[in-house]
Amino acid sequence: MAVIAIVVEHAAGCIAPVTGDQVECAMRIAGFLKAEAQAVLIGDDVQQAAEFLASKWGVETTVVHIPESHYYQFDTWLNSLEMVLGALPIAGVVLGHTPNGMELAPSLAVRLHARCISGVHSVQREGEGLFFQRALFGGKVWARIGQPQGRWVVTVQPGAFPLRLQESVHKANIRQIEAAAPMNRARLVDLQSAETGNVALQKAKIVVGAGRGLGMKENLKLVHDLASVLPGAVVGGSRPVCDAGWLDYGQQIGLTGNTIRPRLYIACGISGAFQHIVGIKDSDVVAAINKDPNAAIFNHADVAVLADVVDFLPVLTDKLRQVLREKEAQVNQSQGEQGSNKKMQ
Ligand SMILES: Cc1cc2nc3c(=O)[nH]c(=O)nc-3n(C[C@H](O)[C@H](O)[C@H](O)COP(=O)(O)OP(=O)(O)OC[C@H]3O[C@@H](n4cnc5c(N)ncnc54)[C@H](O)[C@@H]3O)c2cc1C
Repeated sequence: MAVIAIVVEHAAGCIAPVTGDQVECAMRIAGFLKAEAQAVLIGDDVQQAAEFLASKWGVETTVVHIPESHYYQFDTWLNSLEMVLGALPIAGVVLGHTPNGMELAPSLAVRLHARCISGVHSVQREGEGLFFQRALFGGKVWARIGQPQGRWVVTVQPGAFPLRLQESVHKANIRQIEAAAPMNRARLVDLQSAETGNVALQKAKIVVGAGRGLGMKENLKLVHDLASVLPGAVVGGSRPVCDAGWLDYGQQIGLTGNTIRPRLYIACGISGAFQHIVGIKDSDVVAAINKDPNAAIFNHADVAVLADVVDFLPVLTDKLRQVLREKEAQVNQSQGEQGSNKKMQ
């Protein structure tokens, strides 16, 4: 039976969150092709992860045990995968669309004489072949890539294939292979996790999101000005804005940043890439300001403002300030009237 291999990333004995998407994608394809999904775990201290995959998700798992190999290493993983997968009747390989997966996939495809398709969001079967779908141009265009025959290596987008667990799972086998660590051209010395959680942002009722469309760091002031007039509003941003140092990484929203659930999210100059959308999709109302009528963010927005964000934000902030001031004056006036009525009584 043909095998769909799942290359599992792990850290400190735990599998990476994208593994669920990989398993779901591989299982779906295995169903289409009447093939079998199998996982591969490489390294030391991965027994617990293998037990989890085999017993909880029912995925047959091969452990390539390499002493003292605690982290992903490009050469080690590539050579190990070539050795293990080369001996199996492989139809395809599913990796995560992560920095490691993106590094590994093209080289693995070359070694396996396979086709490489990255950033896959969905897969369909048509006739005897498969069709993979992936986003292009920040989600504005969708590409359907046919795979009529031959081997393939894909990377799947985290969050694109939510795992649908079966009610009863039969414990699958775990196969153990001992391997020596090959020479690595690069050596990973240490891993330090970035501080990305930001409780204020995650709990805020209103979030104003800054995107690359602001053009320059100085224009961030426009976003902060808007947030300052909205009671309880917190500023966050897209990844390029954090990469550029305009905001701290703790303020990043999206796949590799914070997941927010505000009542109102205002996206300022943000394109609406999948990795950003997964972090904002639980917002009650999304308002987006963008000058591109085809921006993908408008597909997710309840309020779409087609405008230059640099021109529009000061106008919006002034108007809101004025409206809120008038409202406050009305409240003060009615409280004053109630107070004098009480005195008269
Ligand atoms: C593994 C991985 C993880 C990632 N994780 C994240 C993540 O957690 N969060 C995240 O945000 N991204 C993440 N990304 C990056 C993501 O793919 C996008 O590149 C990013 O979200 C784009 O940010 P942006 O919308 O600010 O910039 P751009 O895509 O450059 O979009 C800028 C937008 O501003 C508009 N614009 C330009 N000028 C103006 C103007 N004057 N007025 C109005 N609109 C204007 C443009 O039309 C465009 O739509 C990740 C990517 C990868 C590969």
